[in-house]
Amino acid sequence: MRGIEKAVSALSRQLGHGRVRSDDYIRAAYSCEGMAAFPPGMPDAVVYPVSTEEVQTLVRVANEYRVPLIPMGGRIAAFRMLEVERGGIAVDLCEMNQVIDLDEENQSITVQAGMTDFMLDQAIRAKGFRLMVHPIGQAAVVCAGAEVAKHSLGIYGSMNGPQDRWVMGLKVVLGNGDVLQTGASRVLGAPHFSRHHLPDLTGLFMASEGGLGIITEVTFRMGKLQESIVFADFNFSQDEEGLRSLCSAANEIRSKELVQQGLFWSPPSCQSWYERNLRAYEEPGPYDPTSLGDTTYDRYGHLLSAVIESVSSHEDAALKETEVKKICARHGGEYVGASFSDVLPMDDGGYGKDGREPHPYLMGEFGRSKLNWHYIWLQAPYDSLVEFDRLCPPLFEKAGFNPAVCYHAAYFTPYSASLAAYVHYDASDPAERERVRTWYEMIIKDCFDKLPALPVNTGRALRDYALKRADPEYLKYMGEVKKMFDPNGIMNPGVSIF
Ligand SMILES: Cc1cc2nc3c(=O)[nH]c(=O)nc-3n(C[C@H](O)[C@H](O)[C@H](O)COP(=O)(O)OP(=O)(O)OC[C@H]3O[C@@H](n4cnc5c(N)ncnc54)[C@H](O)[C@@H]3O)c2cc1C
Repeated sequence: MRGIEKAVSALSRQLGHGRVRSDDYIRAAYSCEGMAAFPPGMPDAVVYPVSTEEVQTLVRVANEYRVPLIPMGGRIAAFRMLEVERGGIAVDLCEMNQVIDLDEENQSITVQAGMTDFMLDQAIRAKGFRLMVHPIGQAAVVCAGAEVAKHSLGIYGSMNGPQDRWVMGLKVVLGNGDVLQTGASRVLGAPHFSRHHLPDLTGLFMASEGGLGIITEVTFRMGKLQESIVFADFNFSQDEEGLRSLCSAANEIRSKELVQQGLFWSPPSCQSWYERNLRAYEEPGPYDPTSLGDTTYDRYGHLLSAVIESVSSHEDAALKETEVKKICARHGGEYVGASFSDVLPMDDGGYGKDGREPHPYLMGEFGRSKLNWHYIWLQAPYDSLVEFDRLCPPLFEKAGFNPAVCYHAAYFTPYSASLAAYVHYDASDPAERERVRTWYEMIIKDCFDKLPALPVNTGRALRDYALKRADPEYLKYMGEVKKMFDPNGIMNPGVSIF
């Protein structure tokens, strides 16, 4: 028997047959879909643990037979380009979806790693709390452990920063089978009031992408529910000076903590394609990028969208709005209402139309209308936005895309800008897939060569680029940590920089 077969039979004995599956159709369901840039792959088996103890059993068996483990939450990271091409066992954590502790006084909640953002939010909303970060539009599927593993950043609420500001502690089954608890609760009897128990080990698992161990529990710091939310959009001239002014305005707004969301949209503005694409989803028809003429294209230059919140009152939100308007006006930005920021699906919390399904558009699920999308996402200093704005449009055209179906944007965080560029394409057409691949290669190369950019959600797609540019000393220490936590290299081999 091969190692994997021995491992599957040992796990079936120890966890029960129902929780260990190696049927072809289940394996196929856990394969990556081979989106434009990468070939598909399939795990040898899928395991559904329900507790930290079961994850520990699984890790021990995997070590014994040297079988790779690929932890999985909602399985949507980087468009399902999951790292299963080398086989191994997919560990589906979705059965681990219980609240372990809700501490209203210390504003923290501890949950199992497979709990989705939607379930989590439901558990705390009635008590007047909310989750401060969730990747927009996919709350129905994105899981707590994966958000830490990917160091997620909410597109809505980008000024809340990425997840490391809101995670207070973790329980992790390391690759060597040990269980590590981080955060203040490690001190016997202490609540989750701080994530430091001596030096902070929690941060080590941010963006670890399952390369060090399997996160089984996460403690989040909760925010207070907002009393009032106001949207406002500002138009800046469509030239470099306009973009620089927009950045200055965003910086000032940020330093005064006036907004939860600061967002730059490139022209052509996203609104018309957003609306059109929703229509295309609701009324499926043939995909014809040439028909997507942009009516708003001429009316707007660089746009700044602001989402202003108050946890205390409408008056407080209105005061902040007045201040934001003054700042933008001083930097030459014209107030143009709220129709751009409004497209951020805030009213449903990003949870989709019926509050359960991820929003079809945001899931990139345009199978019926053949309209799919692909993106690149990078973290960079604010002033890199000018260079990013310069390089995006020619690359869209060079790769053969109609600019009306592409856009680039920046989500402002407390300390940097998250740069994003998107293209739409027909995934059933091999020529279009090739076009995406070409564009992706070009834009990654240009961004890394010309900006001081760091990849977000590194994953397989950007691993080689990240490695090439990483400091060898830093990598040496990461390698040592990896060896200590995962001596047999079974944890998600290949997916991360380890
Ligand atoms: C349309 C779209 C929009 C997106 N928008 C955003 C956004 O706004 N902000 C953002 O940050 N991201 C965004 N993403 C990326 C994605 O939402 C995040 O990476 C999210 O955290 C993925 O969650 P998941 O549960 O689907 O993770 P999965 O895809 O299941 O897993 C993600 C990674 O984490 C590892 N992993 C999963 N669970 C664990 C665990 N318990 N322990 C250790 N490792 C684990 C996996 O092996 C994998 O490498 C977007 C993706 C799509 C498709």
